[in-house]
Amino acid sequence: MKKRLNIALVAHDNMKKELVEWVDWNHKTLLVHHLICTGTTGRLVAKAIASHHRDVDVETFITLLKSGPLGGDQQLGALIATARIDILIFFWDPMSAQPHDVDVKALLRLASVYNVPTAINKSSADFIISSPLLGNVNYSPTIKDYSGYIERSIK
Ligand code: PGA
Repeated sequence: MKKRLNIALVAHDNMKKELVEWVDWNHKTLLVHHLICTGTTGRLVAKAIASHHRDVDVETFITLLKSGPLGGDQQLGALIATARIDILIFFWDPMSAQPHDVDVKALLRLASVYNVPTAINKSSADFIISSPLLGNVNYSPTIKDYSGYIERSIK
């Protein structure tokens, strides 16, 4: 018995072709889960999946957020902070400045705070998608206990 996971997919413009190729390669595995994508990435992902599964209504398993620079990365961050993202696949572009660089940093930071398995490129995405832990009902990433921080004394 496998868990249906919420998998977030995001790619910067120069990385979108690579992500779409990765989705093409992994469409069968991805179809089992629910995908949550920033706007432009999501439209490309939906098209790629639909080309393999013409009988499936892609809208039922892909949620499109706003485009990243228009708040989509922050929406994803909020979903991570409320435990609604199981995996983050984020093909970010290390060679171009992004107008929403602070949002990108915030997203990656929250993924780290909440111990969300995160792939930042194709090889790490390959490792995550082929992991025996993917969807394993007996595995949940541990969340660090932040109670010490929450209850810290403020003078
Ligand atoms: P996009 O956003 O999928 O809407 O292009 C990605 C990003 O955060 O740059």
